[in-house]
Amino acid sequence: MSKTYCPQCEAVINVKDPHEGDSVVCRECGTKLEIISESPFDVDFPLDSDEEWEKETENW
Ligand SMILES: [Zn+2]
Repeated sequence: MSKTYCPQCEAVINVKDPHEGDSVVCRECGTKLEIISESPFDVDFPLDSDEEWEKETENW
């Protein structure tokens, strides 16, 4: 079991078998996160499905 903390609300996030690139959802705040590193286990906001980024590209 790997453990890290939600970058949004700092709740503990446990993943039994993490793989880099997998998506996880924080049980506390519902934020969608992406596993950016398996060892050490770490998650961050996903880069490829960011809604604000999509909005910016529409204005180009
Ligand atoms: Zn959270």
